[in-house]
Amino acid sequence: MSSDYNDELKDLLKQTREYVSYFRELGAETIDTETVATTTAQVGPGQSTAQSTEPVPTVPPTAATTPKPLFARKPVEPVTLATSTPHAPSQNLFGDELTNASLLPQSSETLEQIWSDIGECTRCGLCSGRTQVVNTHGNHKARLMFVGEAPGADEDAQGKPFVGRAGQLLTKMIEAMGMKREDVIIGNVNRCRPPGNRQPTLEEAAICRPFLFREIATVRPDVIVVMGNTALRNLLEIKAGISSVRGRFHDYHGIPVMPTFHPAYLLRDPSKKRETWEDLKKVMDHLDKTSRNAATA
Ligand code: URA
Repeated sequence: MSSDYNDELKDLLKQTREYVSYFRELGAETIDTETVATTTAQVGPGQSTAQSTEPVPTVPPTAATTPKPLFARKPVEPVTLATSTPHAPSQNLFGDELTNASLLPQSSETLEQIWSDIGECTRCGLCSGRTQVVNTHGNHKARLMFVGEAPGADEDAQGKPFVGRAGQLLTKMIEAMGMKREDVIIGNVNRCRPPGNRQPTLEEAAICRPFLFREIATVRPDVIVVMGNTALRNLLEIKAGISSVRGRFHDYHGIPVMPTFHPAYLLRDPSKKRETWEDLKKVMDHLDKTSRNAATA
């Protein structure tokens, strides 16, 4: 056996271990070939997303494989100011009729315009303790959006959401779903770090969340994942806690919303990773189904 061949084998083995450890960390005991492997087929840590009808590979992908994107970016749609929403669904996931009033309005704003409006914000008291405003970050045409609570110390220092320990776990979750961070968009209810990482007050959240709503109207993701109680209560105005509502899709103006545990909570209680992974699999299924519908439409 040549040493090149040996090196390649070692490399493949290392990649396989890393790939499996992603799923383990997320609480998966087995990799369900229907819901996980087919959507993540040929996708390994840090690699591009894929859709494949090929058999599930026994080894993770190599640089030589060029997978077809499953979580393809949406084509650029002209956004116009309109009172009607022609591209919006007429029913939500639960079959409820959606009227124009309940649907997300069409937005003619870009994310840059929203961020410029936020500027060096002093609309609430959190501005006095922050280093910088931490705006939503990621793919402006993402099909999937994650929403958390507020920046912590690392985010405040770097100016990007979810870059600390909780953010690293979120990145692993995204990669286990067969995507890269660059494929999705990630934001928070509040954009300034609360002192001592406390929860934002109701008033602070109410002042800041309209910017998130405007961003959602601009991006129009196919699915939103709300992580933890603050995101849940501000997006869905639900009083119940995350444990009782997670795992089921809810509706935000026609966009399915999946509530799940916040990654910071998962760091404190890793046993909840399993349920989180179940929730994320439902999100993957939904994205998969909607992309197939789009392909056959
Ligand atoms: N926790 C959050 O809710 N948001 C971040 O950006 C980081 C940690």
